[in-house]
Amino acid sequence: MNNQASISVLLDVIRKRDSFVITSHIRPDGDAIGSSLGLMHLLEAMGKRATVVFVDEIPPNFHFLPGVERIERRFRKADAAIFLECDSVSRCSIDRAEFDGAQPMLTINIDHHRTGRDFADYNWIDAEAPAVGAMVYDLVVAAGVTITTSIADCLYAAILTDTGSFNFSGTGASTFAMAERLIQSGTSASDVARAIYSCNPASKVRLLGIALSNLQIDEAVCWSYVTVEEMESVGASVEDCEGVANHLIGITGIEAAVFMREMPDHKQFRLSLRSRGNVDVSKAAAMFGGGGHQSASGCSMDGSLEEVVGLVVGQLHVACRELAKQQTVATPQASTLIA
Ligand code: 5GP
Repeated sequence: MNNQASISVLLDVIRKRDSFVITSHIRPDGDAIGSSLGLMHLLEAMGKRATVVFVDEIPPNFHFLPGVERIERRFRKADAAIFLECDSVSRCSIDRAEFDGAQPMLTINIDHHRTGRDFADYNWIDAEAPAVGAMVYDLVVAAGVTITTSIADCLYAAILTDTGSFNFSGTGASTFAMAERLIQSGTSASDVARAIYSCNPASKVRLLGIALSNLQIDEAVCWSYVTVEEMESVGASVEDCEGVANHLIGITGIEAAVFMREMPDHKQFRLSLRSRGNVDVSKAAAMFGGGGHQSASGCSMDGSLEEVVGLVVGQLHVACRELAKQQTVATPQASTLIA
């Protein structure tokens, strides 16, 4: 189904039902939270009942979003469950037993990951969309609902964060057109950016310092990590690790980067992979049971730091050397050009 067909099918499904429960992935980020709340406001504007559910904490820099105080922790029965940005129910920030207990329920999956999967009754996956917030924006427009300041703030925050502040490769003219319309509808770009990017706890900045001091670079790959003890030494939370990987990929000459956070059991690491768009890090993440996008993906891996580094960095080296080979083939030699 193309996007227009998916949107009209989904709106039809929504119009025929009254109550919805909305959720997104574990350790929710700006797109997960902003698109969930934006969708809640849309459904309410359509005369529906909607509840957003996350069992995980909402990071403090998203507490300004309208409706955040209404987020619930317990999954509840409704006519339909809408999953945003997830490739399975198990990746959702919900209690699985509560979800199972609320069955039967119609399920809807809206995702923009290239590793997205058709796991629900209705699936709308658009890997070209710069954020799921942009897909919710398309739903708002198609539904003919007035974009209130609440909708605008939530969707602008979703799009801003998932495009890396309009920097990532999926950002196009239509992304800026959406941003323009959201700003015209009452959102303040500077207020949203300040709330998200300039309200960091000191522990987050201290943790970044530790991560950067653990930096290793080898050819076009770089990596860094933080241990449980290092996190404890600065009182850092899991949310404080958000965004560290983006600093690593900003180094000149680096094509792929990975940031590893040791899990409390000392037996596992959570990985954030990044590329500058030439290497597809979602393939490496998928090899280790994760997924995501070409330039940003993640996974969890068992093992010691040395074991995890060996496996993931080895895989990123393979991808970078493959890229270097392709670039050599694609770039004709000077003598060929002269001839
Ligand atoms: P981050 O590194 O910021 O946690 O995640 C980067 C991107 O990869 C996000 O779009 C996120 O949804 C996706 N991602 C991270 N971890 C996983 C995972 O374990 N499985 C899947 N399918 N996607 C992931």
